Amino acid sequence: HAKTHGRDQHAVFNEDLKFRLMERLALTKDLKQACDDLSFELVYQPQWNMERDLWIGAEVLIRWHHPKRGYVSPAEFIPLAEEQGLISVITEFVLTRALEEMRQAGIGHLQLPRLSINLSRKALLDQHLMQRLFDRARSKPEQRPALILEITETAAMENLQATLAAMEAWRQQGIAFSMDDFGTGYSSLAMLKQLPLSELKIDRSFIQDIPQDRNDEVITQTILAMARVLSLDVVAEGVETADQAAFLTQFGCATMQGYYFAKPMPIGELKALLEKDNATAQPYR
Ligand code: C2E
Ligand code: MG
Ligand code: MG
Ligand code: MG
Repeated sequence: HAKTHGRDQHAVFNEDLKFRLMERLALTKDLKQACDDLSFELVYQPQWNMERDLWIGAEVLIRWHHPKRGYVSPAEFIPLAEEQGLISVITEFVLTRALEEMRQAGIGHLQLPRLSINLSRKALLDQHLMQRLFDRARSKPEQRPALILEITETAAMENLQATLAAMEAWRQQGIAFSMDDFGTGYSSLAMLKQLPLSELKIDRSFIQDIPQDRNDEVITQTILAMARVLSLDVVAEGVETADQAAFLTQFGCATMQGYYFAKPMPIGELKALLEKDNATAQPYR
């Protein structure tokens, strides 16, 4: 009987695998179509600065509403886009559309000092994409928020020399870098020191169990102390409660992003929020 049982399980596994492969294939096809039609939307999650009492920046997040599946998370389709060679199209779309929306809404650097854009692994090292993005970013930089590109530790580590060169080139265009999801990768202090970063984002996984988890509290304090030594700005991500915000403030984290402050929102809502709270904003740096 054991043998039959084993064979059944094997068959079930194969069916399951087959189903998942078909699903993936279908999703890939639809993603390609969405890239052709550029049928994505953008939302913005503002970041609150405790010291200056204003929305100091916002992170641009892509949204894909699939015609049949409904909302598909970028955590699912961005890795697929990277694999399928679609990430350059998406990255160019996000930067172009975000700057367009900012301009149409009349959000300049006086209304919002900074705008953060996620740059995935392959995008950073795509020379052609970079050239097109430079061209977009060059027009009227004084009328838009300063741009910050968010990269992850794994992206930076994969090809450190090439990453350094690409970051240097961007920096010469006046664009800053932030290390996203910090603490979840394996970057060394030596690497952090070497990269031309201006900011670290503490990953949500360290924030979510504060104040219950003592280890996470210590990790967060350590990241904050380290950032201070390296003169890096810090943004805590995924801040959901007043307790978390109080803890972060106590240990010197000035900027926070998370549902406690604001959820990601379309440009119209961002505009209204900035008009309400950022009226007295001063130019950044
Ligand atoms: P990320 O860059 O770390 O973005 C933060 C994610 O945390 C966002 O999810 C945001 O909605 C979510 N978040 C913010 N505050 C809270 C909170 O208080 N609680 C909880 N539970 N979640 C919170 P989202 O929009 O689903 O994006 C997931 C990931 O997809 C991003 O992680 C980023 O890696 C990637 N992504 C999103 N948009 C883009 C894009 O335009 N380009 C690229 N390359 N990647 C993107
Ligand atoms: Mg990010
Ligand atoms: Mg992040
Ligand atoms: Mg994260």
